[in-house]
Parts: sequence; structure tokens; C-alpha cells
Amino acid sequence: MILILNINYMRTDPHAVFSQLLESRDLKCTRQRREILDYLLRAEKHVTAEEIYRDLGRRDSALGRATVFRTLRLLEDAGFANGITFADGRKAYEHKFSRPHHDHMICVDCREVIEFSNPVIERLQDSAAREAGFEPLWHRHEIFGRCRKCARRAPVRKRGNK
Ligand SMILES: [Zn+2]
Ligand SMILES: [Zn+2]
Repeated sequence: MILILNINYMRTDPHAVFSQLLESRDLKCTRQRREILDYLLRAEKHVTAEEIYRDLGRRDSALGRATVFRTLRLLEDAGFANGITFADGRKAYEHKFSRPHHDHMICVDCREVIEFSNPVIERLQDSAAREAGFEPLWHRHEIFGRCRKCARRAPVRKRGNK
């Protein structure tokens, strides 16, 4: 069974949605999986699988890295989590339950993530899709570069080795 992304899901109880999702994949709603979801719900920033594994693993030595990775991928596939990819290929996640849509600027030096939302960009993306006869369901928009702090620290690279 494929769980279809439905915006109403985002407004309901994340735990109910999560157990429904697990059930649809023939997976048990284990304490470990629930704790991974809770971690993501509590996180104020974008967290990597390694960070979740390290923090939860401290209290629960039975927790496997694979469980963390698989649960996060499951949440992302179902549209309940957002995965953003850093310049070095590492991934961070954030949950999407009752959070408004936004996009990301990602610093290639310090991995700072800045959230932004620009109505003009949103509209342009939608009309570009419509012109192509494409029905957009969601999108991910990531801008890679240097944050203010890192840009100040690397003026030579920024100005092209002058
Ligand atoms: Zn930076
Ligand atoms: Zn974000």
C-alpha cells in the first residue's frame, strides 16, 4: 500500500500518522522508532542521522544505526520529513508536521542552514511546472554557498583569488 501525501495528515497527531505509516509498510511501531520520531519533533534545527543515533544511543545501547537511517528514510519517503543534503553529501532531516513550507540556504563551510520562504520564487516554480504540463506536489529548493560569517572569513575565495 502506498501512502499518499495528504496535507491534512500534517495537521493531525504525528504519532497516529506514524503508526499508520509503519503499519502500511508491515513494520512494528517499536519504542525505538517512536523515539526517533519524537527526537525529530523536538529538534529545533535540522539534525543528521548520526546526531540522532549518538544522542538516543547513549541511553539505549540496543539501538542500531540502521534503524535510525531506515526510519528517517521512511519518514522522508512518506513526505513527513524533509531531507536536506550538505555539500559533503551528509544528510540532515526536519519534520514537516504543522510546519509551513520553506526552502534552505546551506553553507558549504560550516553547514549552517538558513530557512527562507519567498512567495515570488514559489509562484514562479508553480508556473514553470504548469507550463510544462507538470502537476507539482512538493519541491525542494536548496541554495549552496557561504553564510555571512564564513564569507567574511574567506574573502579571497569569494572574490576569485584576486
Ligand atoms: Zn558558514
Ligand atoms: Zn528547514
